[in-house]
Amino acid sequence: MENCCKTCVHFITHYVLTGEKYIPIDLGHCIFPRIKPRDALTKACSHFSQSEKTDTETNT
Ligand code: SF4
Repeated sequence: MENCCKTCVHFITHYVLTGEKYIPIDLGHCIFPRIKPRDALTKACSHFSQSEKTDTETNT
């Protein structure tokens, strides 16, 4: 699979509250080199750096 924002160390996942539980969604924001909204499946840019997060942590 091609690298995308959700597997990048700079991607911050957003969550929604459903009842008493927070559920990760496929939207978030990037914090490098500036804060900007991103879809989790956005194609990786030149600032991409592989995250150590597991698939569960990246909500795949
Ligand atoms: S926009 Fe680039 S630096 Fe930001 S999360 Fe996506 S791949 Fe990473």
